Amino acid sequence: MKSTNVVWQQTQVARAERERQNKHQSAILWFTGLSGAGKSTLAAAVEVRLHELGCRTFVIDGDNVRHGLCGDLGFSAADRTENIRRVGEVAKLFTEAGVIALTAFISPFRADRDRVRQLVADGDFFEIYCKADLAVCESRDVKGLYQKARAGQILEFTGISSPYEEPAKPELMVETGSSSLESCVDTVVNALIHHGIIQPETLTQP
Ligand code: ADP
Repeated sequence: MKSTNVVWQQTQVARAERERQNKHQSAILWFTGLSGAGKSTLAAAVEVRLHELGCRTFVIDGDNVRHGLCGDLGFSAADRTENIRRVGEVAKLFTEAGVIALTAFISPFRADRDRVRQLVADGDFFEIYCKADLAVCESRDVKGLYQKARAGQILEFTGISSPYEEPAKPELMVETGSSSLESCVDTVVNALIHHGIIQPETLTQP
């Protein structure tokens, strides 16, 4: 902490009041997995489904924040850690705003993800491991990055020249490498119902 003389300001509208108005809990749905595993695609599709159900949602996407908030960061281990720290702080603000924040970041290091988990209250951090074999991700090569990484044009590329540490105990694992997008969306939404984050019958009431 470099800032001094900074005093926390309480808001007049509490998180619980926002959640009551929204008729659902706020949470961080943290999608993690290899590049091309399907994090962005799945987060976007889950958001559409939740929005249709009447939830307040927002997707924080890895590539997007690197255009702005994290535009000064690269892909070294230290920069990846700082990237995830900032995203965690932003996602936390969204939970205080009563929103379900969906984040799509490779976030390869367990310690970085766990730091975000510890930043928020118990139950707020919902880790979703998008599981897809490296071979599948590489054959998809959505952005042509694997080809570049294999050619040595991208250094420290997760799965090729930088490690991916699988979540030890994610709240949910989805087989994005082998299941259809629709069934993965169903799996996520059902898990949110199971954990009491959303209750569709409450949401649809006027
Ligand atoms: P990431 O954000 O993890 O880098 P993307 O979402 O950009 O990955 O790309 C994943 C690719 O895999 C997309 O082309 C998507 O259509 C495809 N895909 C196939 N099955 C699934 C699934 N079950 N979930 C998500 N994406 C899937």
